[in-house]
Amino acid sequence: MGLLSGKVALVTGATRGIGRAIATKYASEGADVAFTYLSSASAADELVGELSAMGVKAVGYRSDASSYEEAHALVKEVQGAFGKIDILVHNAGITRDTLLMRMTEEMWDAVITTNLKSAFNITHAVAPVMARQRGGSIVYMSSVVGIGGNVGQANYAASKAGLIALSKSVAKEFGARGVRANCIAPGFIQTDMTAVLSEEIRASFIEGISLRRAGTPEDVAGVALFLGSDLSGYVTGQTIACCGGMRG
Ligand code: NAP
Repeated sequence: MGLLSGKVALVTGATRGIGRAIATKYASEGADVAFTYLSSASAADELVGELSAMGVKAVGYRSDASSYEEAHALVKEVQGAFGKIDILVHNAGITRDTLLMRMTEEMWDAVITTNLKSAFNITHAVAPVMARQRGGSIVYMSSVVGIGGNVGQANYAASKAGLIALSKSVAKEFGARGVRANCIAPGFIQTDMTAVLSEEIRASFIEGISLRRAGTPEDVAGVALFLGSDLSGYVTGQTIACCGGMRG
């Protein structure tokens, strides 16, 4: 018996990085896993194979998180195929980094739509399902940048701060139905998203981390396991930083 045996999880953006590690961790703890991607169809097929080999049900869906219609259609499909949704991890996200004065309207809109409006889209579809079930756990992938801001990431920081406020509101609106909502705020995690940073920026980040190392997707998956499982049954409206102790 795993910590998530008998549960169904939906993870957005799971073909790489943090989302993939969460899908894998959840499956290893016995959850059936539905997940989404945008363009990486072959990585999605590969992941379905890996998760199925662990003895759970796994299906990958191409679904653009920024589309309200696609989010609602996705949740209908997942419900049809899996029967219920116990855990939602809204992880899909992008960056379009530059200084504010160089930021175009397109860069602002792309990040806010993919990272924040997407959370409204999927929550609007999933929360009523969980409310009818009288239980569920929603986990949003925020960022330490959504707490402290960052040079060159005004759009991204605003989107991630929005997720924190959204989670607190969802926790208050749906708590009476047994639905919990929390955020994870990762720090500097080694994925494709951060692979674009120069060695110099990387070194300066690590200098400011108490544990003196970048985080791994598996580090974040451990927190997602806690928040998705009944171990966190009395935790809602909270943001857990997973950042190795980033200093100020
Ligand atoms: P990543 O390696 O770039 O992976 C992003 C994932 O999101 C991919 O599976 C991608 O699918 C999917 N995705 C992107 N746009 C999508 C859309 N419109 N619809 C559906 N799926 C979409 O990112 P990561 O580093 O693992 O980050 C995952 C989450 O953690 C993000 O929300 C990010 O902001 C947050 N985070 C990351 C860090 C870090 O240091 N890495 C720190 C704090 C927070 P495709 O492969 O199909 O494109």
